[in-house]
Amino acid sequence: MNFAFKCKFCGKPGVVTGDDAGLEIIKPEKWIPNICCNRCGDYMVRKRKNQTAIFNLCRSLETSRFNLRGEKLNDMENRVRERLVDATKALCSIVCNYYRTTTVWDQEFPAMLMDKPDKAGVVIGVYIRSVAKEAKKPFQPLTHETQALEL
Ligand SMILES: [Zn+2]
Repeated sequence: MNFAFKCKFCGKPGVVTGDDAGLEIIKPEKWIPNICCNRCGDYMVRKRKNQTAIFNLCRSLETSRFNLRGEKLNDMENRVRERLVDATKALCSIVCNYYRTTTVWDQEFPAMLMDKPDKAGVVIGVYIRSVAKEAKKPFQPLTHETQALEL
């Protein structure tokens, strides 16, 4: 038996196939509204893994700032900064790849996390929303008309 569904993230239609008895037990009408396509599913998993890594770095930064002083704290901050640079670059490529846009990474991103490690969730959320917003802008071919309008 096949069940049609729409991905809850991107709206792409898909089909779930299963045997009747199995589908009967798991009640597809309950879970189909929450289902997503493979592409969105992969994205969510990769994004969550990366976000967890960033949260962990921010938490260890907060702990270090509380417990360490002087050179020890400096060393720790430098190490966390390097790893946040890598982690945010990885997150940018995951997010931009999903939204099919060119990868936009700014050193402000890890700098903001260093500055406000307790606000990591907000900082990441703002970045992802800005990429999504940029990606949803309709493509506008540059014609003579639009050029004229801009002049
Ligand atoms: Zn999807």
